[in-house]
Amino acid sequence: MNVLTDIDVVMVTPPSRLAVYQGLSNDLAAIEPPVWSGLIAAYLQQRNYKVVMLDAEARGLNHADTAAEIAALKPGLAVFCIYGQQPSASTQCMPGGSITCARLNEIAGIPSLALGTHPSALPRRTLEEEPFSFVCQGEGPRTVEALIRVLRDGGDLANVPGLWYRDEAGAIHGNRPAANIADLDSELPRQAWDLLDMTQYRAHNWHCFHDLGSRGSYASIQTSLGCPFRCEFCCINTPFGGNGVRNWSPENVVAQIDELVTRYGVRNIKIPDEMFILNRRHVAGICDVLIERDYGLNIWAYARIDTLRESMLAKLKAAGFNWLGLGIESASSSVRDGMAKGSFTDDNIRDVVRMVRDHGIAVGANYIFGLPDDTMDSMNETLALAIELNTEWANFYCAMAYPGSPLYEEARANKWPLPDDPGGPGWIGYSQLGYDAMPLPTMALSARQVLEFRDHAFDRYFTNPAYLAMLEDKFGSEAVGHVKQMTAHRLKRRLLETPAA
Ligand code: SF4
Repeated sequence: MNVLTDIDVVMVTPPSRLAVYQGLSNDLAAIEPPVWSGLIAAYLQQRNYKVVMLDAEARGLNHADTAAEIAALKPGLAVFCIYGQQPSASTQCMPGGSITCARLNEIAGIPSLALGTHPSALPRRTLEEEPFSFVCQGEGPRTVEALIRVLRDGGDLANVPGLWYRDEAGAIHGNRPAANIADLDSELPRQAWDLLDMTQYRAHNWHCFHDLGSRGSYASIQTSLGCPFRCEFCCINTPFGGNGVRNWSPENVVAQIDELVTRYGVRNIKIPDEMFILNRRHVAGICDVLIERDYGLNIWAYARIDTLRESMLAKLKAAGFNWLGLGIESASSSVRDGMAKGSFTDDNIRDVVRMVRDHGIAVGANYIFGLPDDTMDSMNETLALAIELNTEWANFYCAMAYPGSPLYEEARANKWPLPDDPGGPGWIGYSQLGYDAMPLPTMALSARQVLEFRDHAFDRYFTNPAYLAMLEDKFGSEAVGHVKQMTAHRLKRRLLETPAA
């Protein structure tokens, strides 16, 4: 019999990096403190539950060792947090969570809960197909707490909000999700960084182009949850049951940053909010205090072309925002319009990028190839725009119909091939940089053509002499050397190994 300890819950970040990033995980990819795991852990600490955080990703543990550590802790519940390092990256982390949980089930009888964007999007299927005892639909804190109580003290699983479970006869039931937490300051006041070894984390290489040796002083802090927009390819609002934004107060955010700086020596900060630069009062409130405290931070956050105002930029820069991530997605307005990605022209894009850089803020531009209306011509236009803009960093993505996004429903309804179809690579096929990556085909292009173009675009952009010269000029030769090391690394792609039809 499994004798449980007094540990109520272990919050697990299962190992996924190697499958998701291939060799890039060795040095180039970021290692980020698990935000949701930390928020829920602190929520439970506040209510006097005994919590352990196990970040197998950061510690480089394999599945078996992760399962063995959970088993040795003998908690009342193991919560597998299926979130990636960027808003759409949950699905690709499912295999890592499932393999670890299956190992755990082989060696211990510890109840497990899967929580995150993907389980929220497909709770029934997750419970049917994966080895978890329970699945959470919704953001999680209230579900986890109520489940711990029922497992520990007895009670009816039907009363645990957002819980999907099997009854004794094996029938699946799903409870209505818990209401989202309205007062973030009082109920989710911080992340439990005290339960992590904060020396394990590492910023993205580009975030520290100015000083690559400083990447280890890193953390991410959420200042808001959710996004008011409804881009077709985006799944980030899934755990919240709809679109909308909730903010932490500027006072709370700055108190958390103060803890990061004074207790953990953090200087490089990512704000992973789905849409940070939106509410002027929220942004200005945070910036004003950061300017006053003058911590010497190096911060990055996401912004949108159509919501960024020049009047905000001087303040952002003075507060330490040295990078903004901009969703440009495509050079073709008809491709963008097809995805409800706001109304802006290529000239707007040029103006915003120029304006941001004029304020001394570097731009990380995001592009997507293979949106449903994309053709080879429109993808070439996007690459040409990227090369023309020559931003300090660029991410090139393939369109994926992530579970939880409207695009996933459209793809299913139209029977477009998806990685999770029978015979497909499964959830790992949603990994952008993985060996088994399988993009969505477009009306005109196959998945293989899209993937091949994306890898070509990446190579073309980062080996472009004009890009390397700009980098040398702004950040020096060490940054250039780092990019060369990155482009020397070739991603292996199963889809490109088979001859084209
Ligand atoms: S703006 Fe669109 S892509 Fe960005 S977080 Fe919001 S819904 Fe997602």
